[in-house]
Amino acid sequence: MKNDFISYSKQTVDDDDIKSVVNVLRSPFLTQGDRVPRFEKDLSRITKSKYVVAVNSGTAALHAACYACGIKSGDEVITTPLTFAASANCIIYLGATPIFADCDNYGLLDPEKVIKKISRKTKALLTVDYGGCPSHLKELRQIANRYNLILIEDAAHSLGATFKGKPVGSIADLTCFSFHPVKLITTSEGGAVATNKPQFYKKLLLFRNHGITKNRNEFISPYEGPWQQEMHILGYNLRMTDIQAALGISQLKKMKKFLGLRTAIARSYTRNLQKLQENELIDLPKVTSNTTSAWHLYPLRINFNKTKYSKKQLFQKFLENGVRLQVHYPPIHLHPYYNKKYNLKKGDFPNAERFYNQEISLPVFPALTKTQRNKVISLVEKFIIEN
Ligand SMILES: *Cc1c(COP(=O)(O)O)cnc(C)c1O
Repeated sequence: MKNDFISYSKQTVDDDDIKSVVNVLRSPFLTQGDRVPRFEKDLSRITKSKYVVAVNSGTAALHAACYACGIKSGDEVITTPLTFAASANCIIYLGATPIFADCDNYGLLDPEKVIKKISRKTKALLTVDYGGCPSHLKELRQIANRYNLILIEDAAHSLGATFKGKPVGSIADLTCFSFHPVKLITTSEGGAVATNKPQFYKKLLLFRNHGITKNRNEFISPYEGPWQQEMHILGYNLRMTDIQAALGISQLKKMKKFLGLRTAIARSYTRNLQKLQENELIDLPKVTSNTTSAWHLYPLRINFNKTKYSKKQLFQKFLENGVRLQVHYPPIHLHPYYNKKYNLKKGDFPNAERFYNQEISLPVFPALTKTQRNKVISLVEKFIIEN
């Protein structure tokens, strides 16, 4: 991969980040030292959630969250098809069945479609803050309350976003973050679960560490001595290292700045591309009311019936000009694994499929320069208007 390409996202790592990581490398603890608890505390303050458990990926965060709320074989969890495979894979990891409900024009799980998919087996709703915009959390909460379901939020895109003034992380029963390099802040690989419920917190801790507790108050057998530890459930090693957490602590200090830069880029795209929307050539991304987006993506939807180039040709044109676009997402139900396993097919979720067919993600990341941004804007204008 040529690195002078402008891609849809990339990390920003500075000398302070490097110093923090190197300090850990010189310290006695590369893992299970004090950085992970500090990172968790910082995240808990920023997300206004009582408890945060850091893990080694966003996928691990989703897996642990599904475990913590008791999802098991025979259960169903309702989620969106317009997301990364991990949002649904985590349900299958626990032997449960993902049930898809279509998305709306924001690319978000549609609460009305969710209601139609509820059955006696439904245990939880797993919504995804597509592109960085918070889900329809008010409606989903009402549905969850009415049917006694747990609300899980895949907030891999939406760290820093707000819903009615509240930070993402303080709203759902369990909120999952990812710190992969394309996300708002990075720990290289990494993730975290935020919750306000102590019963979930306890289970997350166990699940992250093989199901083993070292807490004397929790022992089932008589106390034998300070070496004692007991395994209570089948957990995994989902632990984050102190090297990763040190990077996370340092990155979090720049979170507001990163958010501001992403927002400015998104606003500039919107301002400059407005006229193409007026000509019905494109649909600009919208943000739901009373929310702020973290602008993980700038998902442009293009009316390819009216353009000279097909999606494939447009992608190629951008590549030839040094811009590597991305598409989010091939709907999950069309992945061969899913359509074979659950007998899903094209046409099952028309909104997600239409969204996917029309969507391209323009580059958004803190280090994108004004010149690069203007280049992207001119390329969009050029290739979409061209007839
Ligand atoms: C990135 C991402 C994940 C997975 O996160 P990893 O840290 O890569 O495991 C899950 N869901 C969504 C929507 C994502 O974008």
